[in-house]
Amino acid sequence: MVKDRIVLVTGAGRGIGRAIALQIAAQGARVAITARTEGELDTLAAEIAEAGGQAFKITADLADRAAPKTILDAVAAYWGPVEVLINNAGIGSSQSPRPLVDFDDDFWDLTFAVNVTAPYLLSKLALPAMLKAGWGRVINISSINAKIPALHGAAYTASKHAVAGLTKAIAKEVAGQGVTANAVCPGVTATLMNDKRIEYDAERLGQSLEEIEKNASPLGRRLTPEEIAEVAVFLASDGARAVNGQLINVCGGTVFT
Ligand code: NAP
Repeated sequence: MVKDRIVLVTGAGRGIGRAIALQIAAQGARVAITARTEGELDTLAAEIAEAGGQAFKITADLADRAAPKTILDAVAAYWGPVEVLINNAGIGSSQSPRPLVDFDDDFWDLTFAVNVTAPYLLSKLALPAMLKAGWGRVINISSINAKIPALHGAAYTASKHAVAGLTKAIAKEVAGQGVTANAVCPGVTATLMNDKRIEYDAERLGQSLEEIEKNASPLGRRLTPEEIAEVAVFLASDGARAVNGQLINVCGGTVFT
């Protein structure tokens, strides 16, 4: 159980992060939620409160290097140090899909700032309190693109491999101290980010959205954010104490490594 744990979910306003925040709050955790779009956070916070849970909103842009400290300081002042850090916020390939030779350098930098540097800084700042307490969880939402490439998504693919490496590096350092670091690697999941990606693929392949959806996984559909959240919430629990340094696919059997 995660009851009363202090949890931070980045990118909680919609999609996978929102599903994680709702599920973990329903289990009695105190959930700090952050993203740039205040309205989405307000809606989520209200929904959590209505269900009897506790949410605390911080609006921030994780492309800003100062944001991780601002966010963690705000949570610490409100509830105390973060015990479960869920690095979920991310930028997809579909914002600027291009072959490598035409890749947008600014988009490369932005992707790495949000997808890699922010989880690195948040982990670096949150880990000391976890290690001091002898209990903590770092859960990174990577992707199956940490294992197989996304066409015309060099920055995304490289960033998700980097998150996988970061996860293993943390896991090695914290092993045996009550703290774990793991990554969830979702397959194609029905969120706003992926809606844009499948529109790009439909256009590129000359297929309908229905065809793309059907081929998104061996389940004959895209995964749901709730199916990804279930695994992230498990990793936050005491029951997952022996799981450390793992990259866990939730993809319906799309990839096997
Ligand atoms: P989404 O629906 O687009 O949600 C992304 C979340 O991240 C939003 O809340 C967004 O909020 C936040 N975010 C983006 N840029 C940010 C920034 N600069 N600062 C702070 N927050 C920011 O995407 P999703 O599909 O749920 O993605 C969640 C995670 O799952 C990502 O790491 C993604 O790479 C990973 N993933 C997704 C899929 C998929 O098929 N959907 C597959 C594998 C992995 P604001 O825009 O309001 O800031």
